[in-house]
Amino acid sequence: MKSNLFILKLKKFFKRNAYSIAVGTCAVFALFAITLAAVISTTTTKDVGSESGNLPIETVTPTAVIFSSPIEGADITKEFANDKLLEDKTTGYWQTHSGIDIAASAGTSVLAVFDGTVTAVEKTMMEGAVITISHTNNLVSVYKCLSENNIEVAIGDSVKKGEKIGEVGESLKEKADGAHLHFEVHEDGKPINPTIYLENDDK
Ligand SMILES: [Zn+2]
Repeated sequence: MKSNLFILKLKKFFKRNAYSIAVGTCAVFALFAITLAAVISTTTTKDVGSESGNLPIETVTPTAVIFSSPIEGADITKEFANDKLLEDKTTGYWQTHSGIDIAASAGTSVLAVFDGTVTAVEKTMMEGAVITISHTNNLVSVYKCLSENNIEVAIGDSVKKGEKIGEVGESLKEKADGAHLHFEVHEDGKPINPTIYLENDDK
């Protein structure tokens, strides 16, 4: 009889509080649904995002910098060498080579390899005319052994990728190599192998 009384009391309780119980149950279900949705959405973001976290793909894609050739269709005749010595035909000494040499006859157009700003135009005794251009990503391109008489840019000029900046000339420093462009790329102030950024033509 005692249990019957308990059930009766329970029934009464539910009748009196039916509204509150209904609202409460709904609230619990809603909270559960929201939590479930949140868990699913974070899992989905992780799948799409990078391995390092939940960053969207767009923000982790680096700026693509690809240089065009400073001389159209010409071959590299002397490679970059900062950790080994190459024979310098002019001096006979074995030395490092802080850029690449691209053979081309005097008067051949020299082109900016990427959009940038001209930061130096020098006329040197040993290396002929030298033009320096600053680019994005702390990259700098340097064009040596140019003709002093056909410089087409000045300090502060904005240049576009492929724009003519001067012509191949002569230099005393690498005279024995014949007419060529000595081309350097500096990254964070240090010379690096220019072929890393040069477009691969696969001639
Ligand atoms: Zn050189």
